[in-house]
Amino acid sequence: MSDVKITSVRAIATAPQGSNLIIVRIDTNQPGLYGYGCATYTQRFTPVLTVINDYMGKLLIGHDALNVNDAWEHMMNSSYWRNGPVLNNAISGCDMALWDIIGKAANMPVWQLWGGKVRQAVPVYRHTASTDYKELDEQIQNFLDQGYQYIRIQAGNYGGNHIYLNTPEGSPDPKDVSYFDPLKYMREVPDMFEHVRSVFGNDVELLHDVHERLTPVNAAFLAKSIEQYRPFFLEDALAPEQGYGFKQLREASTTPLAMGELFNNPMEWMPLVENRWIDFIRCHISQIGGVTPARKLAAYCAPFDVRTAWHGPGDVSPIGHMANVHLDLTTVNFGIQEWCGMEEDPLVQDMFPGCARIKDGFAWANDKPGWGMEVDEELARKHPPVIHEYDLWKFRTPDGTSVKG
Ligand SMILES: [Mg+2]
Repeated sequence: MSDVKITSVRAIATAPQGSNLIIVRIDTNQPGLYGYGCATYTQRFTPVLTVINDYMGKLLIGHDALNVNDAWEHMMNSSYWRNGPVLNNAISGCDMALWDIIGKAANMPVWQLWGGKVRQAVPVYRHTASTDYKELDEQIQNFLDQGYQYIRIQAGNYGGNHIYLNTPEGSPDPKDVSYFDPLKYMREVPDMFEHVRSVFGNDVELLHDVHERLTPVNAAFLAKSIEQYRPFFLEDALAPEQGYGFKQLREASTTPLAMGELFNNPMEWMPLVENRWIDFIRCHISQIGGVTPARKLAAYCAPFDVRTAWHGPGDVSPIGHMANVHLDLTTVNFGIQEWCGMEEDPLVQDMFPGCARIKDGFAWANDKPGWGMEVDEELARKHPPVIHEYDLWKFRTPDGTSVKG
C-alpha cells in the first residue's frame, strides 16, 4: 500500500460548446498531485453529479490513490445495483482521475505507463451530413484537404431527414417532435454512397451511422445494399436490445459492422464478440466505467478479430477524448477513432490546456505525465451546464409512433 491517499473527490460540470460535460477531480495528500477523469453523460448529467458528490467521496477518501484496481471494484460493487449509465459514468470519472494521478506519480504519460505506443498517432474520422449533395461534397472535400482519410457520411440527420409526413389526425405537432421515415432512409443511403464514390473515387474510407433505427431484416437489406460501395463500417445498425439480429446482418453481407456506443454491460457485447458478428467495438468509455474496463474489453476482443472504434462525439469531454487517444496508442487491435474536432475551438483549448491535437488526420497525445492535461475551473464555471430542449426531444415514425432517438 502506498502513502498516497485520496483526500477529495468532486465533480466539475461545464458546457463550453452547449453539450454538458462532467469532469471528476481527485486530490491526494501529496501537494500538487491530483487527477482528472471524464464522467460525461450529457443527456442526464444531474444524477451523475449527485452520485459523484454524495457517494464517491465517501467511498474513496482515505483509499490508496495508486491502487485503481481495488478502487474500481469497490465503486462498482458497493451500490449493489450495477451496470447502469449513471453509476458507470460516475465510476469512470474517478477511474480516469486515478490513472492520471498514477501517471503523474510515476512521472510518465499514461500511454507509457500502459507499456508504450504501438503507433505514433491515431487515425481519426470526421462527420459530414447533408441532404444537399453539393453541400455534402464540400464538407468531404474540406476534410480531405486537411489530410483526413476517413469520413462519416450521413444524408441529413440520423435515420434520414427529419420530415413531417401524413400522420393521423391528433398526432404530435412536428414542431414538438422529430419525425423520420426508416423506409425512405433505406432508399436514400445507398444513393448517397453511390454519389460519394462517383465523386471521390475509392481512395477515401467511408463510414455511416444508422443510430439503431432499423429492424434486423431492414438493417440486413441496407448492409447488403451498400456493400458494393465498400464502406469502412456500418455503425449501430441495431440497438443493444436487438443483439441477436447481428447474426442476420453478418450472414447477409460483407459490410463491416460496428456496434456499441450504448452498451453498459458486458452481457451486451459478449455474444456479438464471441460469435464474430461485429468487426468494431465502439463503446462510450465513460458509459462502461472508464479506461480500466475498456482495456480489458479491448484485450477480450483481440482474438475474435474485433477492433476498437471508441465513441468520440461532442458529448465526451476533452479529458475523455485524451483517454481515448491513450487507449488507441497502446491497443494493437485498434481500428479507428471517431473525432468531433472540439479542440479547434479556442475556448476549449483555454479551458482544457494540453488537449489532444490533430495533424494530417491523426490525433496526437503529448508527453507530459498522466493525461498531460489541465482544467481551468474558473473558466469552466463561467460556462455552466443547462438542460436543453433537445435533451428532452421525442422521435416518431410517420404514423406517429414513438421510437428510439
Ligand atoms: Mg453513433
